[in-house]
Amino acid sequence: MIPLDAPLKSINCDVCGKKNITEEICPRCKNDLTILWNIVRCSKHLSSLARQALVKMDTGAALDYASRSWGLKRNELAARCAFLSSCVSGDFRSATTWFRRCKEISL
Ligand SMILES: [Zn+2]
Repeated sequence: MIPLDAPLKSINCDVCGKKNITEEICPRCKNDLTILWNIVRCSKHLSSLARQALVKMDTGAALDYASRSWGLKRNELAARCAFLSSCVSGDFRSATTWFRRCKEISL
């Protein structure tokens, strides 16, 4: 099982659909993937900050970071952090939404 906070090693080209690309330029269609990589890296960083905030029991910051991470790129760590933050805050409606997102992303 891959850890949720493992560094991202590859992405898919948003133009031609080639999978598992590790370079900044798509080897098939030569699409520049720099912006996509930066978005994904920002999302990973924000989900990492969400986890750190959750460990400190700063649920407001954790939910904010997790939501921003999710907005950039859907990921399981962000959804889990948002779910736990919502539970700890007693916002079970939000927790239910995030629980569904966790399930969707982990399928
Ligand atoms: Zn491509």
